[in-house]
Amino acid sequence: MAKQKKFILQDSEVPQQWYNIQADMVNKPLPPLHPGTKQPLGWQDLAAIFPEECCKQELDTEHAWIDIPEEVLEKYKYYRATPLVRAYALEEALDTPAHIYFKNESTNPLGSHKINSALAQCYYAKKEGTTNVTTETGAGQWGAALSYAAKVFGLEAAVYQVKISMRQKPYRSSIMRTFGATVEGSPSMSTRAGKDIITRDPNHNGSLGTAISEAVELATTTPHCKYTLGSVLNHVALHQSIIGLEAEKQMEMAGEYPDQVIACFGGGSNFGGIAFPFMRHNILDGKTTEFIAAEPNSCPKLTRGEFRYDFGDEAGYTPLLPMYTLGHDFRPANIHAGGLRYHGAGMIVSQLIKDGLMHGVDIPQLETFEASMLFARTEGIIPAPESGHAIAATIREALKCKEAGEQKVILFNLSGHGLIDMTAYDSYINGDLHNYTVTDEEIQNNLKSVPEM
Ligand SMILES: *Cc1c(COP(=O)(O)O)cnc(C)c1O
Repeated sequence: MAKQKKFILQDSEVPQQWYNIQADMVNKPLPPLHPGTKQPLGWQDLAAIFPEECCKQELDTEHAWIDIPEEVLEKYKYYRATPLVRAYALEEALDTPAHIYFKNESTNPLGSHKINSALAQCYYAKKEGTTNVTTETGAGQWGAALSYAAKVFGLEAAVYQVKISMRQKPYRSSIMRTFGATVEGSPSMSTRAGKDIITRDPNHNGSLGTAISEAVELATTTPHCKYTLGSVLNHVALHQSIIGLEAEKQMEMAGEYPDQVIACFGGGSNFGGIAFPFMRHNILDGKTTEFIAAEPNSCPKLTRGEFRYDFGDEAGYTPLLPMYTLGHDFRPANIHAGGLRYHGAGMIVSQLIKDGLMHGVDIPQLETFEASMLFARTEGIIPAPESGHAIAATIREALKCKEAGEQKVILFNLSGHGLIDMTAYDSYINGDLHNYTVTDEEIQNNLKSVPEM
């Protein structure tokens, strides 16, 4: 019998609700705090920046299941369900007894999972009468998704793109402009925060931290403008749970259940998206799946950061968030996985790590490209440099299985394709890419910027 490679859901089988793991967590995430008063924030406080419904979702520790609005489901149908694929060719190349599956979130025209939350956030913004949205973007996937989603729901979008990423990936700016957004390199001279950063360091390459400061400033100083965020926050992971909920049904079709679930980690949205629906069975039904978040070893907040209350942005405009952090002004090396160059981890994930329900692993840049090259040559998909971290972690686990003669079932999330990242592949092939390490001393020094509580 021919091997079944792809597992496809019909439209009618696409989940109609998102899963909110906060409701099932034994220890809830600590609350975000007002940076001045250090008092816990209510959703009304957050609503100065974000769409209201997103603020309610952010702090919802009660409802495990949240209905996906009809209008969002309608848009999901353009590209969902996404395929779950058994990576036979990769298994064969590795000569591993492990069964490797990947959820392919690269198949939508925007090329990454980010669209799952962009559509939801723009829908809620529009519904409450907002006319403009603004955001930051690193490599540009979130900015591209947001620009498209804004257009879909009739909103104007202004995007601050990290300067270094803009230079590395000029086509992503073109994509955003094609969808009608205005795009600025961050730090820019168009905001107070940007000017201050440039004054301190005229050669600042930008980071997600600088771009968030600028976008938040624009949102708080412009009428009818809301800020949207592509990662880190609880409501973003909620919207991304569609990934894991589909994968759960598809793994059932494959007749297997994952022993390990792996995703790359920037702020935690694609990780949470694929992991949390499976993790609920660890929490509620005694399953023992292992959850692995793969981060760059040049930006190792999960494996070497500290659990602290810290700002989400460089200038210190955001609420204080309880998270594993390297310090809000940490400057990650210029690796090509722009989406993973962020100093902190989401609040949910940070609590889950403290509670031992998951763990991080850090991977050097060259290993991620080596893994991505093998994946491209076996499975025919060129992965995003971010996704390369998940693939590298998967390969490590598959090789351990080979060593031990163990037949584990591994599921990883392919968060996006790398077709706009080909300069990175060129550099790798030409031997021009490097590994970057961070010393303990640098991390300790940088953590001094984290406010004392
Ligand atoms: C943004 C991005 C990431 C990292 O963000 P998370 O919120 O951690 O998922 C990973 N992969 C791709 C393709 C991205 O665009």
